[in-house]
Amino acid sequence: MCENQEGTHFHSHFPSFEECVAFHGHACPGLATGYRVATAAMKRLGVARPNDEELVCVAETDACGVDAIQVVTGCTAGKGNLIIHDYGKHVFSFFSRNTNRAIRVRVCEVKRGERSEMDALRKKVFSGTASHEEEGAFRSLMQEATAHLLSVPEDALLQIAEISSPPPVKARIFATITCACCGEPVADAKTRVVDGSRVCIPCAESRAQGGERRSP
Ligand SMILES: [Zn+2]
Ligand SMILES: [Zn+2]
Repeated sequence: MCENQEGTHFHSHFPSFEECVAFHGHACPGLATGYRVATAAMKRLGVARPNDEELVCVAETDACGVDAIQVVTGCTAGKGNLIIHDYGKHVFSFFSRNTNRAIRVRVCEVKRGERSEMDALRKKVFSGTASHEEEGAFRSLMQEATAHLLSVPEDALLQIAEISSPPPVKARIFATITCACCGEPVADAKTRVVDGSRVCIPCAESRAQGGERRSP
C-alpha cells in the first residue's frame, strides 16, 4: 500500500463519510459540507491526521459540519485544537504548526432549486405538522442535497485561501484551585477575583447580579 503514488495512499487514510455519519448520528447536507471542507484542507496543507495539536481548526460555526471536521482532521473540542467562534458563517481556518502554513476555507452558497422547498418542509417536519408524504419528501430532498454536496467539484463548493495569521495559542494545562464561594474545584485561569478572593465564573456572575451566595 505504501508503494502507491503519494496522493492515492494519502486519500485512503481519510475516515469515510460513513464514519462521520456514525459519529454525528445522521447524514445531512451540513455534515457533507464539513466532510468536503476537512478533506480539502488536509489535502491542501498536506498533513496527516494529527495525534496532538499540530493542526488547529478555527470554525466560525457550531453547526453539523463541525462533527465531520473532528472525525477527519482530529481537531477536537476536547484536545483544544478545535476552536469554535460561532459567527454563524461556514468558514473554517486551519493552521499547521509543523509547516507554519495556514488556510481559510469558505463554503460557497450552492445554488439548488429545491432549497426553498426543503426549508418549507423542514419547518413542518420539526414542528411536527408534516404529513407522512411531506416527511418522506423532506428526507429524500435531504439525501439528494447530501449526495450532491459530496460529489460537486471542489472549486464550485469551496474557496481556499492561504493566510498568514499565526495559529491560536496552545491549549494549556491549568492549575486547579478551590472556588472561595461554592467550594468546587476550578481551573485557576477561569477564576475571577471578587472582594479579594478567587471565585468561579458562575459565582462571580451571580454576585455581580446580586444573587444569592451559593454555599458549598
Ligand atoms: Zn446534521
Ligand atoms: Zn464557585
